[in-house]
Amino acid sequence: MAESNFIDYVKILCRSGKGGAGSRHFHRAKYVPKGGPDGGDGGRGGHIILKGNRHMWTLLPLRYQRHVFATDGQSGGAGRSFGKDGEDRIIEVPVGTAVFDAETGEFLCEITEDGEEIKLLRGGKGGLGNWHFATSTNRAPRYAQPGQPAIEKAVVLELKLLGDVGLVGFPNAGKSTLLSAMSAAKPKIADYPFTTMEPSLGIVNYRGDKSFVMADIPGIIEGASEGKGLGLRFLRHIERNAVLLFLIPADSDDIKKDYEILLNELKEFNPELADKSRVLAISKCDMLDDELREEIAAELPEGIPTVFISAVTGQGLTELKDILWREINSEENQVKSTMTHRNLDVRHRVEEEDEFIFHQDDNEDTDFPIDDEDWEDEFWDEEDSVNG
Ligand code: GDP
Ligand code: MG
Repeated sequence: MAESNFIDYVKILCRSGKGGAGSRHFHRAKYVPKGGPDGGDGGRGGHIILKGNRHMWTLLPLRYQRHVFATDGQSGGAGRSFGKDGEDRIIEVPVGTAVFDAETGEFLCEITEDGEEIKLLRGGKGGLGNWHFATSTNRAPRYAQPGQPAIEKAVVLELKLLGDVGLVGFPNAGKSTLLSAMSAAKPKIADYPFTTMEPSLGIVNYRGDKSFVMADIPGIIEGASEGKGLGLRFLRHIERNAVLLFLIPADSDDIKKDYEILLNELKEFNPELADKSRVLAISKCDMLDDELREEIAAELPEGIPTVFISAVTGQGLTELKDILWREINSEENQVKSTMTHRNLDVRHRVEEEDEFIFHQDDNEDTDFPIDDEDWEDEFWDEEDSVNG
């Protein structure tokens, strides 16, 4: 087995930036002995943002990146000058990456589209400078707000796999052998029901930095023809296969006929399966001499890309990968591919930066709630008391 370039699971410690402190400055000028408060606001801390990138196929680039820290906002200054905002950190991930809280295992969000951005951790808001707090009874407020704290969270990124290619063939067509010859690793993901049936899923490395998933789906033909009713359990997953790879051995009596039978079984199972991209591989071609091969080539089914392969000698496997990759990434399939979790409520999307004013009591050491989904509510409650 080749070494895998495929990583579908990484754990990263993320930390957003602290908000900068508001300034407690008083205006000083030669002929203005008692200048008013003019301390400016602190800058916002940097966010941690996830961004989908369809040119990534694995989490490998993140494997050695154990920490992702945004920078802090700077403090406000004299003359009501604002502190600089901290820098955001953007973590680019493949489309289909789900994020979980590493401690609780709670599902946080999932990137489902290229270019999609989800704010994972919000940077702390900057504190208000002291000039905001001048009132008729307190013209020289000595306090300014501290910035909000950073948020730190360990997250697990997991790449949800779509079964890109589903193998279809009669028993002994060579499906299992092909899968193990082509795939370098088994994905960690366990929620495919057929992972209990051997062999099931494999990751196929393609041209160094790319990979796709190939699935042996014994349930369709073998199960269905034996009336075992296994099929329904697999259907959900097969529907997500972008491409169906038909495997018919070179020693078949009638390749065209076998192909028709397989296709009909699929259609009976679910007519929509017939709409999927199809590729035909004639397996076990190491058993063919040139003459036989030409005979077969003259009698192939029409309208389907066909490759002669041997899982034993490796013949035709590169060409097969090329064709599969092309089909998986065809425009049609890009549109059709469905993602998991698409409908889940994603709470951490990047919104417009909201206006903020928050009240700080006189004790500057007061902590803001950290790392707590409720903190925003508390924050707005306090805002009311400032404005009201
Ligand atoms: P499956 O039932 O479709 O999963 O088929 P298997 O992968 O179990 O293979 C069935 C038989 O065909 C086994 O005896 C394999 O050794 C043999 N076989 C598979 N691939 C090849 C091949 O490329 N060349 C030859 N000569 N035999 C093969
Ligand atoms: Mg098998």
